[in-house]
Amino acid sequence: MESTFRIGRIFGIDIRAKSGALILLLIVMYLAINALYPEMLPGLSRNMYIFLGLLTTVLLYISLLTHELAHAIVARKNGIEIVGVVLMFVGAAAIIKEELKTPQAEFKMATAGPLASIFMAFVFMAIAIFIPDTLLLPKEMFVYLTVINLVLAAFNLLPGFPLDGGRILRSIFWLYTDNIDKSTRMAVRVSLFIALGLGIFGLIIAFNGNFFSGLWFVFLSNMLFGMSKQTSEMLEIKEQTKK
Ligand SMILES: [Zn+2]
Repeated sequence: MESTFRIGRIFGIDIRAKSGALILLLIVMYLAINALYPEMLPGLSRNMYIFLGLLTTVLLYISLLTHELAHAIVARKNGIEIVGVVLMFVGAAAIIKEELKTPQAEFKMATAGPLASIFMAFVFMAIAIFIPDTLLLPKEMFVYLTVINLVLAAFNLLPGFPLDGGRILRSIFWLYTDNIDKSTRMAVRVSLFIALGLGIFGLIIAFNGNFFSGLWFVFLSNMLFGMSKQTSEMLEIKEQTKK
């Protein structure tokens, strides 16, 4: 794949990264060391913050990869060829070589990721509850990772296309219409509403005292708008080449 480099292979699936992924990794690491832990656990040594920050970053990336690998493994089980899992500037994606052949296969592939994230949340929650709280492995770290995995599942389950929730919705439309292009168009329409809703919600929050959280929702709204628009443009190209 162009402009990506291979970083490893898990369960026979290539793990690749775009160069932008390194920027995100460094930002996450920097914030975990310098903002998250000094705020969450004040009074520790600088070395302790570095250790906890690095460990959290590794566990965050394991969480992200688990989500994408779940998509990839379920896709492969349904006979779809996998290009690999690609880490990007924002998030990651499982890249498949061909379009899914049945709505059932799409439904299974789309739900696998959020289910894996919910599973990871349970694992971290169990550790937070059952493993004794120590300075090296503080409960707060596992609670934080539980929350992040739940947020990852919830965000991806938004019915915006091509998020997992949007794909689940399309697979349901597809099951009833028996027409993938028509179903994509319906899912994109829902997606634009979701993007609009996220944007309005973000602006309301931003102008009610929570400026940066609001800005984050506006950013997500913008991203979803872009992805939905791109999907409908690609659909138009596909239809024009058919004529
Ligand atoms: Zn996903």
